[in-house]
Amino acid sequence: MSVTEGSGEVYRPISTTDEEGFSDISDSELLSLQDDNLGNTLHPGEGRTNSHGLCTNEVGTSALNQEEVKKSIGKLKDPGGILQRKRKQVVQKPLDKFRMKYLWVTNLCSQTWCEQQMVYEFEFPGVEKQEKTEAMNAGASIHLARELEVHDVVSVSTQTREDSWAIKFLNVLAMIPVLQSGGHVREFPVFRELDGIFVVGVIDELGYSSKGELELRELKTRTTPSLPRSSQKSSHTFQVSLYKMLFDGMVNGKLQPDVFIQHLQLRLDQVLGVQVKEHIERAGLTVSTFGDLLELTCLNLAFSELPVIDCIKLEYCYQADGTLLGCETVTFDEKNVMEHLKFCLSYWKGQREVRGVDIEEAWKCSHCSFSNVCEWRTKKSEDALVKCHTKKAK
Ligand code: SF4
Repeated sequence: MSVTEGSGEVYRPISTTDEEGFSDISDSELLSLQDDNLGNTLHPGEGRTNSHGLCTNEVGTSALNQEEVKKSIGKLKDPGGILQRKRKQVVQKPLDKFRMKYLWVTNLCSQTWCEQQMVYEFEFPGVEKQEKTEAMNAGASIHLARELEVHDVVSVSTQTREDSWAIKFLNVLAMIPVLQSGGHVREFPVFRELDGIFVVGVIDELGYSSKGELELRELKTRTTPSLPRSSQKSSHTFQVSLYKMLFDGMVNGKLQPDVFIQHLQLRLDQVLGVQVKEHIERAGLTVSTFGDLLELTCLNLAFSELPVIDCIKLEYCYQADGTLLGCETVTFDEKNVMEHLKFCLSYWKGQREVRGVDIEEAWKCSHCSFSNVCEWRTKKSEDALVKCHTKKAK
């Protein structure tokens, strides 16, 4: 069984159930989504949000809607004391608390910006993203336009979570031969277990450099005509480094079918939906269950002989007119990336408390919609006051 070469199409799942409401789209496009369900049932106060703008689009959130934001989150200070109650609740692994089976790379990038802010965004969806939507949509449109330069996007109706994952696999299977023949692809889905947690992402672009190296290119759109600050750049570096780790593992045979059962609880014997099957047949494949397609994907990846990613480039462009602001080559430092990843994941595993920004990065708080209610910030201010009084007393 093999896929037809260079189909020129990628598929997007359109869920007809609420089992898996996310679309298989790039992280940049995720910016425009209201929520990516990940196959979980969301409850008030436990919802998830895709306010990933801070790692992909710089969006000023400071004083713009501060009054509205205060109103929205003013309830946090009500006599009901939601935050106080939450603190007293039995400590639960955040991954379980937010009913997440896996993390997006963009979750980890938001966490790198400010973990506390990311948690507030999960707990109180709707506060932050109101202000970001316009810029996020503009960024997503640029990404989509670029994507359409290399292939058509076909919507496929999905009924189950297995269908949605089957679409990801189909896209991977269609892109492998394009890369094998020296072509370039956009929106390459990447996923595998990293340090015990399943991580998912979408690589913006993969192609070959003039030296014949496999090159990852990530486009970042900017709302201001300037390059990002170093803290944003380090978040971007982390993002693309994770993509490399995910991709390299996939082509090195590290993607094992059992992780899809263990982490995502997907059903191997699930018969795929009618529309999904139609596209599988069009790709020249003869599989009927999710398990068959999963196995085929893992085997194709492992025996693809695709190289690992040799070179990583970040491209910054101005959202308003598409001007190129700069292009940077990222040095992949596996040790540092792994250390930082383990630190991020230790929060999700419930091994440590949530953290806000360090004092050196307190400037981020002035751009944050949660600054008026942030417990981390209050605690830091109190600590600083105590320190100051102690100094004076001496
Ligand atoms: S106020 Fe500062 S520490 Fe608190 S969530 Fe916002 S950025 Fe993070």
